[in-house]
Amino acid sequence: MKKNDRIRLKIEDIGVNGEGIGKLDGLTFFVKDAVPGDLIDAKVTKMKRNYGYARLMEIVEASGDRQAPKCPCAKQCGGCQLQAMSYEAQLDFKAKKIQNHLVRIGGFEKIEKPKIIGMENPWRYRNKAQFPFGTDAKGNVVTGFYAAHSHTIIPCTECRLGTEENQVILKKILAHMKQYRISTYEEETGKGLLRHVLIRKGFATREIMVCLVLNGRSMKAADKLSESLQEVSGLTSIMFNVNVKNTNVIMGSELIPVWGKEYITDRIGDVLFRISALSFYQVNPVQTKKLYETALEYAGLTGRETVWDLYCGIGTISLFLAKEAGKVYGVEIVPDAIEDARRNAELNQIENAEFFVGKAEEVLPRMYEEQGIYADVIVVDPPRKGCDQAALETMVKMQPERIVYISCDSATLARDLKYLCERGYEVRNVKGCDMFPWTVHTECVVLIQRKHI
Ligand code: SAH
Repeated sequence: MKKNDRIRLKIEDIGVNGEGIGKLDGLTFFVKDAVPGDLIDAKVTKMKRNYGYARLMEIVEASGDRQAPKCPCAKQCGGCQLQAMSYEAQLDFKAKKIQNHLVRIGGFEKIEKPKIIGMENPWRYRNKAQFPFGTDAKGNVVTGFYAAHSHTIIPCTECRLGTEENQVILKKILAHMKQYRISTYEEETGKGLLRHVLIRKGFATREIMVCLVLNGRSMKAADKLSESLQEVSGLTSIMFNVNVKNTNVIMGSELIPVWGKEYITDRIGDVLFRISALSFYQVNPVQTKKLYETALEYAGLTGRETVWDLYCGIGTISLFLAKEAGKVYGVEIVPDAIEDARRNAELNQIENAEFFVGKAEEVLPRMYEEQGIYADVIVVDPPRKGCDQAALETMVKMQPERIVYISCDSATLARDLKYLCERGYEVRNVKGCDMFPWTVHTECVVLIQRKHI
């Protein structure tokens, strides 16, 4: 088999990046945009010793799980990997992926396929969107998304994961740029003004923020743009963000208020959050609430417990748990996030939550060795790479009754659970939560409990 060969494949599985997987003559092929159950004709694009990549040329027989993508630019965009797959099939794929990692990496052979909390309406769930601006070959200002592996902008203001208002806001900004002949930023020369537009919406409050990222500090006729944007229902805040550096990082550190408040507010359950243009905040608030409710249920709080929330971000989980706990301690590496966490605690008049800046693997051992602190329950929600060894070691030493592990990467989750379960804990409950429909990403929450011998 070599490059450019035509092959006929039955797609039988799906890879971790959403590509279809088929086998032929003992060779495994990965095919983007192919769905399990499809019979396809494909062209080999790259061959390795026992696997290869192929391009989908024709669907000979469509899978029963196949559906037409809703986004007009789904294929070029690449932001969603699973738009050609029905939502049910997608949830099943995610549940199997979690199970597979727990069995293969964690060694939990008897674990069943977990339940997965899906969305009733899996579209328009993102509360945050960032659109790059540029100029096309004809000199027209455009916005959309970057084509794969490049910074060429594919014009498209309609993303079905984003809110309805995004498109209205982008059209107003495009019209303003045209009318006042405002330039867009060029990476090659470092010249031009508008780089990106960030739009955030509080789903519970319906408040909207528009933040224009500028290679500068002002924009021509900003008052006119502001008036036009204020016509959008829910608009609460218009900001400039200054980013004059030649960098791929979207946002700079300086914010300039243009109109309205400098933040929007949102609510998860009963807890209020104040969100600025630079704050980290979960992008799917509907599912976040379900995820945190599951974590709360697993934590089994009666009102007396001491809870540690490691990798706490802006304290969303800590504050969500605080009302049911005796005391909550949050640890997070980003100082700004901890400032937000403390402010959010105040905003909600929560007095039994305390936050520390630092690495979980340093703060927790220090507090344990030096101050003899303990925990009834530990909640962890680490980044993709999972927990650091030192953090896991201290968790075992502290012997909390329950550990609730929230993870966005089931492979590192399985690795860390294996470590904990070889040291006195057992898995009691596993649930998936679909925070990112149409993408391959899956969130997972696990309860492990201390074994009493
Ligand atoms: N629990 C939060 C955010 C979890 S995201 C929520 O639900 O909103 C993971 C967080 O871990 C990020 O905020 C990241 O800044 C933080 N982080 C990464 N490495 C860390 C470390 N070694 N110690 C503590 N926090 C860390």
